[in-house]
Amino acid sequence: MERTSQISGFYKLDLNGRLNIVKAFANLTDEEVEQLTSTTSLKMDLADKMIENVIGIMPVPLLINGRDYLIPMAIEEPSVVAAASNAAKMARVKGGFFTSSTEPVMIAQIQVTRLSDPHRARIEVFRRGDEILQLANQQDPFLISLGGGARSVGARVIPTSRGEMLVVELYVDCKDAMGANVVNTMAEAVAGYIEEITGGVVLLRIVSNLATLRLARASAVFDRETVGGEQVVDSILDAYAFAEADPYRCATHNKGVMNGITAVVLATGNDTRAIEAGAHAYAAIGGKYHPLTKWEKNSDGDLVGSIEVPMAVGLVGGATKSNPIAKICTKIIGAKNSRELGEVIAAVGLAQNFAALRALATEGIQKGHMKLHARNIAIMAGATGKLIDKVATKMVEEKKVRVDRAKEILDELREQGK
Ligand code: NAD
Repeated sequence: MERTSQISGFYKLDLNGRLNIVKAFANLTDEEVEQLTSTTSLKMDLADKMIENVIGIMPVPLLINGRDYLIPMAIEEPSVVAAASNAAKMARVKGGFFTSSTEPVMIAQIQVTRLSDPHRARIEVFRRGDEILQLANQQDPFLISLGGGARSVGARVIPTSRGEMLVVELYVDCKDAMGANVVNTMAEAVAGYIEEITGGVVLLRIVSNLATLRLARASAVFDRETVGGEQVVDSILDAYAFAEADPYRCATHNKGVMNGITAVVLATGNDTRAIEAGAHAYAAIGGKYHPLTKWEKNSDGDLVGSIEVPMAVGLVGGATKSNPIAKICTKIIGAKNSRELGEVIAAVGLAQNFAALRALATEGIQKGHMKLHARNIAIMAGATGKLIDKVATKMVEEKKVRVDRAKEILDELREQGK
């Protein structure tokens, strides 16, 4: 099968139709397909009613750097997958998403306390940098054999409520691992030596989730006419300006970005809390909380979006290889290394943000949301099988998407023997 993710009407196919497409696209084995459909604790036919594009996991078709991807998302909110698919389709008109990333370098922090002369201690750490790196790199010979390992040492004196402290940092290339365990082990290993050369007392030795040396970036041009014309482009820019100016709006703007990011991070067995913490800290890095994305208009009047976000995700380590579903999701994406996976995730975050801004700046979020949410409400009211769609459709028609109304409709349909 041609490896294209532009599958028109993917969402209209039945469950088996979608599964067959993903199976062919990602060369999944029969066993992997079986796992995808049977290990989920949700009954598949029920899940199918709750969310768009369900196949056990929900793939969204994205064109990134000229290559087609199907991207699985694990999320309970039905509109997210539909919105990402829609945004991906619109981005395709101008070539899709373009991405890049830094080397996969993580930061480990070693807190040194009880120093009477922290500035001298800082200089001493730099003077002994090679010895510190050597000690750190003895911890993970396998990572070194892959070309990774601790690259350099940093040291900062920080004022705190308990006086000045020294923070020593290790900058570690973690290759295809997220790297928290890797760098924590290194930080613990060098602690004794750092106490010896500084004369202080080492307390914390732990990874920083503010992974500013491990950034993923993505951008996309959204054609003015495809988006809905000049007025829609300007409205989206107004919506973005609101987020830039106001933290209450900005939190929700960034939540929309994370709808996409977290869903892929979770689907691939990566650490969602680490990514969330890193993203929000990065958004506030200058002391003011900012949107994770930027929106502007190019000289043709098209809408241009970009994102830059810390992206500590791995293809190995943690649950990525031990959780069978995560392993299959990672295979469907087909990223060759952790950087590519991070770039894909950043692109999904940008797509998601575009979809939310466009909906908010035009018809409002509730129309699409409630249409999809109506199925959940129908299930909540006790509808099963074909009745789920019937109840949902009626509620949407009536613009009354509520459990009490769903129960009434359900009773009426049952009385009519439908
Ligand atoms: P890990 O320790 O499970 O795996 C990393 C190891 O895999 C490396 O030590 C390396 O020897 C080996 N490896 C094999 N192939 C590799 C390759 N191609 N590239 C790199 N290494 C390779 O996992 P990890 O990534 O160090 O840690 C991730 C886990 O740590 C996650 O489960 C995360 O939730 C957890 N964690 C997170 C925090 C946090 O604050 N974010 C803190 C502690 C632990």
